[in-house]
Amino acid sequence: MVTRPTSGPFSSNPFLLSRRILAIARERDVVTRSELIDATGAGKSIVVQRVGELVAAGLLRDGAKAASTGGRAPQGVTFNGTGALLVGVHVAASRIDVVITDYDGRRRSAGSVANDVTAGPAPTLEAVVAAVRAAIAGLPPGSPPVLGVGVGLPAPVDPEAGCMVAPPGMPEWDGVPVAALLGDALGLDVHVDNDVNATAVGELSLGQLAGHRDVVVVTVAAGIGAALLLDGRIHRGRHGAAGDIGHVALGDSRVACSCGRTGCLAASAGGVALAREAVALAREGRAPLLAPLLDDAEPPELDVLARALALGDPGVGALVRRAGERIGRVLAFVAGIVNPSLVVLTGELGTSEVLAGAVRSTLLGNAPVLAGRDLLVRTSRLGAASGALGAALLAGDEILTADRIRRWVESGRSGFVVEDDAA
Ligand SMILES: [Zn+2]
Repeated sequence: MVTRPTSGPFSSNPFLLSRRILAIARERDVVTRSELIDATGAGKSIVVQRVGELVAAGLLRDGAKAASTGGRAPQGVTFNGTGALLVGVHVAASRIDVVITDYDGRRRSAGSVANDVTAGPAPTLEAVVAAVRAAIAGLPPGSPPVLGVGVGLPAPVDPEAGCMVAPPGMPEWDGVPVAALLGDALGLDVHVDNDVNATAVGELSLGQLAGHRDVVVVTVAAGIGAALLLDGRIHRGRHGAAGDIGHVALGDSRVACSCGRTGCLAASAGGVALAREAVALAREGRAPLLAPLLDDAEPPELDVLARALALGDPGVGALVRRAGERIGRVLAFVAGIVNPSLVVLTGELGTSEVLAGAVRSTLLGNAPVLAGRDLLVRTSRLGAASGALGAALLAGDEILTADRIRRWVESGRSGFVVEDDAA
């Protein structure tokens, strides 16, 4: 028997309060009942009852010691982050990464397959389904249930509609209901988001952004994109295009872009453009350390470019420094608007110190003085791994619906019972 609060924000559905309690427990290590009463604004008896149900259902664990403010440490509850698994997929330009993680962000498995996203939705979605099925089949017996799948896609995304919106250079993906198609094929809940947003959440979950609330995460890979973390939350904007800095036109270039316009940042500083220019340099004998690494791949894989950079190739170095300066100029405007405390560079080329150095000096040299004060520019220590992980964790939020929590609580079983089991 569930008691309904007679008034307040959670009166329409008591499990909205349960959902809020789980969300708060996920954000904090340990949370006490009185902190939950303060944070939700709900009455004491109703909070205590909801917490009791969630503990009985195995979604919260009781008895953890909260931080003491003097005297005996109060007892609190923690989210049962190891009780359920999530699959994360990052569809990048040339590969698909798949991870299986628990809600605490601990990875159980990780893998990657080659894929050309511009070949279109059908072959890519088939490859995603095969890779996810293989990852789930590889879990050891007795593993916690897999609750759902998160997918990061390399373009602006409408998470509600579950599709990419006007993806630059990939017109055949526009409006394709990726979440619904994958959900039908896999028999699991699927949530999609922009891959740079997912990367930002992945970095956040692993403590890479600790102490920072306003962060710009910039991916420099085949293209260029950014995620804006404002006051600790992803800012998507009206059409999901927030952070789409790769397609800002700079006005000093007429290079044609995959989006159909000219002069975009990505058309001169993105990985595809740089790879093309690097090959031309190598042919002219101006990239001596890159030349022996090149094979028949046209344009070359970005990690080949990254290797030449790491070896100190002068031609590739100059190319990437110039790209970093262009990216830094755009980020100086972003800094003037957002005033972040941290900029994180990721992606195959973004983690290069050559690029980061050029971005850092141009950004700090052009940002408004106050916005540039104490602004840190760092490379990601996780590299590509954070995209798939963050996609999984974003899906994990969506899966904890009030309706599903009700079914877990009312099933009379402990833990994240999947639908089939509960029936
Ligand atoms: Zn463009």
